[in-house]
Amino acid sequence: MNLVQRVTPAVDTQQPPLLELRVEGKAFGDVPVLGQLALRLQPGEVVSLLGPSGCGKSTLLRLVAQLDRDFDGELRTRPDHVGFIFQEPRLMPWLSVADNIGFSDGRQYDRARVTGLIEEVGLGGFAEALPKQLSGGMAQRVAIARGLYGQPQLLLLDEPFSAVDAFTRFKLQDLLLDLARRHRIALLVVTHDVDEALYLSNRVLVIGNRPGKVCRELHVPLGYPRDRRDELLGRLRNQALEALQGARAI
Ligand code: ADP
Ligand code: MG
Repeated sequence: MNLVQRVTPAVDTQQPPLLELRVEGKAFGDVPVLGQLALRLQPGEVVSLLGPSGCGKSTLLRLVAQLDRDFDGELRTRPDHVGFIFQEPRLMPWLSVADNIGFSDGRQYDRARVTGLIEEVGLGGFAEALPKQLSGGMAQRVAIARGLYGQPQLLLLDEPFSAVDAFTRFKLQDLLLDLARRHRIALLVVTHDVDEALYLSNRVLVIGNRPGKVCRELHVPLGYPRDRRDELLGRLRNQALEALQGARAI
């Protein structure tokens, strides 16, 4: 008998939130970039920020990572370690795959952990390869492993798959979800890809044009693994597009 396994989302609603951000406003000089918005994340939750280019998504992620503390509002966050994954892999070209993954610990990195991560991201046999020997998708797998190396409870991803082709993107999305479940990590993903946001997330926050505000919150009540052809994803896609149109974002 062929049983389709439905794994319910491992969102832990009993624990206190991992992250609570309240923004009253954020500007660069005279230019307001973010309006009023609130963001809360539970352990294990996957949330996407979906919006047009320039609406302040990366700025919001930088506030969460405390790379930028200059805003009106309040940030409360618990995790000791937050991982950050960017659109481009940002690997050190002179370091091997293994050395890039353990980079945050210098030369004395935990080799067993790095070896385990290389296997987990599907790069077995490439530990000593240099970044120039890798495809774009493989390099982004290294970036994911490097993001996981510090054992974060929260991983922030800024348009992580927008530079790779559609099929590679599907594979990387599945890899990311699999790793997040296994390592019990919450994900905050910035994307301008409606399908990616819905496929990955428990919740999607649709952000309108600058100054960015949450103009719609969509819940995706599906377990994992998901079927990309699920009718519910199609219906939610229409709602997301409607919200983006309503905000004159598209
Ligand atoms: P998104 O990631 O949604 O495309 P960003 O958060 O990168 O948008 O940028 C939002 C707006 O803020 C843009 O108009 C951008 O030009 C501006 N901006 C971003 N970073 C800076 C900065 N360091 N200084 C001045 N303006 C900035
Ligand atoms: Mg951006």
